[in-house]
Amino acid sequence: MKLSQSYWFFISIFPTVALGGIQTALQATGGVIKGCLELQRLLPSQTFFADSPEYQTQQSHYWTSQQATDIHPRCRVTPYSTDDLRSIVKVVGRHQATFATKSGGHSTVSGASNIDDGITVDLAGLNSTELSVDDSSAWVGIGNTWFSVYRDPTLTSAGLSVTGARAGTVGVGGFLLGGGFSWHSGRNGWACDTVLDFEVVLANGSVVSANENDNPDLFWALKGGGSNFGIVTKVKIPVFKQDSMYMATTSYEGNDLPDVLVAMEDFTAEAEDPDAGLFMTIACDAKWGMCYNVMMFVNTASNTSSSTFEPFEKIPSFENGSEIMDMGDLSKMLSDQPGTKFRKEKFTLTFRNHRSVPLMLYLASRIHHYVHDPAYLRGARVIAITFQPLTSRHISSSGNAFGLDAEKEPLILFSAEVHWESSTRDQHFHDEFQSLESLFRKEAESSGLLHPFVYLNYAASWQKPFESYGDRNLKRLKDVRGRFDPDGVFTKLQPGSLHL
Ligand SMILES: Cc1cc2nc3c(=O)[nH]c(=O)nc-3n(C[C@H](O)[C@H](O)[C@H](O)COP(=O)(O)OP(=O)(O)OC[C@H]3O[C@@H](n4cnc5c(N)ncnc54)[C@H](O)[C@@H]3O)c2cc1C
Repeated sequence: MKLSQSYWFFISIFPTVALGGIQTALQATGGVIKGCLELQRLLPSQTFFADSPEYQTQQSHYWTSQQATDIHPRCRVTPYSTDDLRSIVKVVGRHQATFATKSGGHSTVSGASNIDDGITVDLAGLNSTELSVDDSSAWVGIGNTWFSVYRDPTLTSAGLSVTGARAGTVGVGGFLLGGGFSWHSGRNGWACDTVLDFEVVLANGSVVSANENDNPDLFWALKGGGSNFGIVTKVKIPVFKQDSMYMATTSYEGNDLPDVLVAMEDFTAEAEDPDAGLFMTIACDAKWGMCYNVMMFVNTASNTSSSTFEPFEKIPSFENGSEIMDMGDLSKMLSDQPGTKFRKEKFTLTFRNHRSVPLMLYLASRIHHYVHDPAYLRGARVIAITFQPLTSRHISSSGNAFGLDAEKEPLILFSAEVHWESSTRDQHFHDEFQSLESLFRKEAESSGLLHPFVYLNYAASWQKPFESYGDRNLKRLKDVRGRFDPDGVFTKLQPGSLHL
């Protein structure tokens, strides 16, 4: 062991903990240290400590500054194969070492994919993409970002694409296990519903397939059930021919917002063209003290003559732009580079679409209001809300754990986020955002528009997405967890993820 590493271990066994917790903390830390040492022995060139450049580089690949800079795992380990991952899972189980699993690192929940004083399993090395011989599907490594999948020569050379994230920096892992809202969702539904097969490493180190025939309950649970059952290594997903896509962005004057939202409600209800998708973001820039709205339109069939967007085109607008671009470029354009300096908080709610315009206008007015409240926004960079149509076709699948299959009416997926710079404002924005979520939820409830669904991929640390799937589905998810992870390894030893 190098001197710097032994020094690292020396200081690491003196954690700052409350007196009563010292023994437990030392036991837990002891397990982590032993785990890191064993991983270093088993996978020497893939296990990294804080003094290595690889560790530092990996630490910068998170979307929030909280995960990138506040959390310091004792070691980070990068599997390059299913066998590597089996060894890692056995090591953490044997030493009862706390760990976190990271794919693209885009979770807003602090500790979901990085862990203080634990072992972070960074899946970035599981980044293969293999096309099936009949060109109908591909096995995609779970540590890929969607940009690397869209740009994989195996797919691009055949003009093929997949149902993946809109932002290219998002990881395949978290996105699919939490659902997955894609530009192709209007036609194909949640991205998780397109998965044909998952390869999963279970807590005992065994490797199983989860598909329609093998372990069908696990197959169902992984679609929306998050990281509660095992670590997925790769997924088999359908591929399809994909030409360039039509993309446009438009901003409207605040006075025209009611008309825009009426057009959006109609678009969501009618869902005439399954290739057409859009979302509306209203953002307030704290520095400049101004708010703006941007509507983004995409037609995946590049159908510029589609009449679906016409109602929006009739509304006066400014800052219009449109382009024909490929999936890779579009996903790059929408990417927020990870490792940015901003601290972030985000929450989500779901509304019924029918007659939702007054509610959406109320939420927009609340956000505008903050620009005139410098005390509230001190230190903030931006506060934003987004409305996204969940069309009936998108949500109608019965193959996932969401419990939305009986839903006959389209919905609106709502999210709010705030970005700020200094950790001194963490408590303020955390508390304020929790209050804001409560306020918005009550407002939606009193107008009869609140839908219980909480989208896992946008959920805040305090929200309960799995409970929102309904009692029956929650019980079934827990049963599946009991069968595939009877000792609760992925719950107890992986404390930062959202659990059942
Ligand atoms: C800029 C941006 C754009 C986004 N765009 C979209 C979008 O278009 N559509 C959409 O639906 N969502 C979108 N999201 C939300 C995104 O889907 C979620 O944040 C998702 O959890 C990110 O996945 P990840 O792998 O990047 O994150 P990570 O932080 O790496 O993982 C998220 C969670 O999944 C777990 N996990 C990851 N991989 C595995 C695995 N292989 N096995 C078991 N557990 C695993 C992690 O432990 C963690 O709990 C976006 C988020 C951001 C920040």
